[in-house]
Amino acid sequence: MKSPATLHSATDLIEAGLISETKREAIERIAAAYAIGITSAVAELIDPADQLDPIGRQFVPDVAELATQPNEMADPTGDRLFSPVEGIVHRYPDRALLKLLHICPVYCRFCFRRAVVGPNSPTHLSPEALATAIGYIADHPAIWEVILTGGDPLTLSARRLTEIMARLKAIDHVKVLRLHTRMPIADPAKITGELAGVLLGAGKTIYVALHANHPRELSGPARAACATLIEAGIPMLSQSVLLAGVNDDIETLSALMRAFVEARIKPYYLHQLDPAPGTAHFRVPIAKGRDLMRQLRGRLSGLCQPHYMLDIPGGHGKSPIGPNYLTERSRRDSYSITDYQGRSHIYPPEACDPGEMRG
Ligand code: SF4
Repeated sequence: MKSPATLHSATDLIEAGLISETKREAIERIAAAYAIGITSAVAELIDPADQLDPIGRQFVPDVAELATQPNEMADPTGDRLFSPVEGIVHRYPDRALLKLLHICPVYCRFCFRRAVVGPNSPTHLSPEALATAIGYIADHPAIWEVILTGGDPLTLSARRLTEIMARLKAIDHVKVLRLHTRMPIADPAKITGELAGVLLGAGKTIYVALHANHPRELSGPARAACATLIEAGIPMLSQSVLLAGVNDDIETLSALMRAFVEARIKPYYLHQLDPAPGTAHFRVPIAKGRDLMRQLRGRLSGLCQPHYMLDIPGGHGKSPIGPNYLTERSRRDSYSITDYQGRSHIYPPEACDPGEMRG
C-alpha cells in the first residue's frame, strides 16, 4: 500500500485504502470541482475499515458532494460583497480578513470557501495585490484586528510570513493579529519555535485559532504543536463546525471541548454549517444544535463553552444563536431565567426580602 505525503487524487485515495476502486469515477468528478487534500498525519487518524469514521468523513470525498441543493451557494458568507480590494474582507468596522492564499494543508469536505480554495484558484496574492491589501489596512485606522485566513496562513514559508509580519508591524492602529489554521493537526511538524518567533516578530498580540471538529484530531503530536505556540506566548482559541456524523452527539462534543481546554485552547466558536455547495449531508438542524448547547451547559465547566454561531447567508455577519436563557415577562424589569438543569426561575425573585439581596 503506497502512502504519499499528501493524498490529492482518486488514485492516491484508492492506493491508501481510503476508498474502493468502484468509487473512482465519482471521486474524479468531485476532484474536478473541489480540492482534495489529506496529509499523512490526518490519514493516520482515519480508520479505513470504518466507513463512518468521523475523521474520514471530514476529509475523504463522498458522492453526496455531487448533489447541490437549491439553497446552497458558492459564497455563503458573502465575502465578495465586502471585499473592497483583492485579499481583504472588511465587514465589521474594527476588524478585517486578510486572505493571503487559497491553499490549505487539508481540504475539508464541508468547507464554506470550497468554491475558491484549492489549486484550481490563484494560489497566492500577487505582490501588487498584497501591497494594495496592506495599504487598505493602513488607510483604515478603525481596523484594530487583522484575521489571517483563507487558505491556511501557516502554509506560507517562514520567509513569506516574516515579510508579511514586518509589513503589519508598521501599521500602528493594528493591535491584534489572529491566524486561523488547521496546521497543528494537518502537519504538526510545521509548528516550531522558529515559526512562533516569526509570528511574534510582528510585535502585535497574536492569537491562533485552531479548527478541529472531533476529539481524535487533538492527537499527541497536535497537542505538542499547540504547546509550542502557547509556550512561546501565543494564546489559542478553537473553532469547530457542527457536523452530522462527526460531532453531533453530546458525548463527542463534550470530549472535543474538554480536549481543547486540556490543551490550553479556549473553546471559541461552534459554527452552524454554512450552506456551501454539496454539503447537505453534513447539516445539523439548528434545534438540535441548540439542544446540544443546552446539554453542554448542563454538563461541562464554563471554560468548555463555545458560542454557537450562525453566519447569516448573504453577508449579514455572524450572530450567536442561543440557546436563550432569559426571557422578558410582561411585568417591567422581570425575567424568566432557565438554569443549567432546564428549570425556570423568576428574576428578581418576586417576594425577595431586600435584606437578603447581595449588595
Ligand atoms: S481548512 Fe478552512 S479554508 Fe481550508 S478547506 Fe478546511 S474549512 Fe476550508
